[in-house]
Amino acid sequence: MSADVSELPPADEYLSEEEVVHLRGVLREQIKLLIDRSRDNIGDLTEEQDVDGDQVDVAANESERGHRLRFADRERKMVGKIQAALERVGEGEYGMCSECGGPIGYKRLLARPVATLCIDCKTMAERHERRSWGS
Ligand SMILES: [Zn+2]
Repeated sequence: MSADVSELPPADEYLSEEEVVHLRGVLREQIKLLIDRSRDNIGDLTEEQDVDGDQVDVAANESERGHRLRFADRERKMVGKIQAALERVGEGEYGMCSECGGPIGYKRLLARPVATLCIDCKTMAERHERRSWGS
């Protein structure tokens, strides 16, 4: 092996190239599933608008549509998070904590590929949230 190993970041927590490639694959798969599913939803909504039912059915359809639109909104936000994660992959910043700049860790990213905080900063943020919500 050559001597420029010293230029590499510590191997323990930082992602290797293979790990980044794997996680990028996971992110791409997730975004594809979300987009396919939201396309199905939009198709259903369009069909419902053509239905010429009585008042009760219309009200039921409206409530169903509202529910689906809220769900679609959550999915759109998730798509945004995944896109942001893929951008970080492109910029070589993926896997770094946006708070402290430290490594997020491969295991944590496998469980939650869109994570932007390391477990320490995440725990701290949650603790802070609970405190500000306190009674
Ligand atoms: Zn951190």
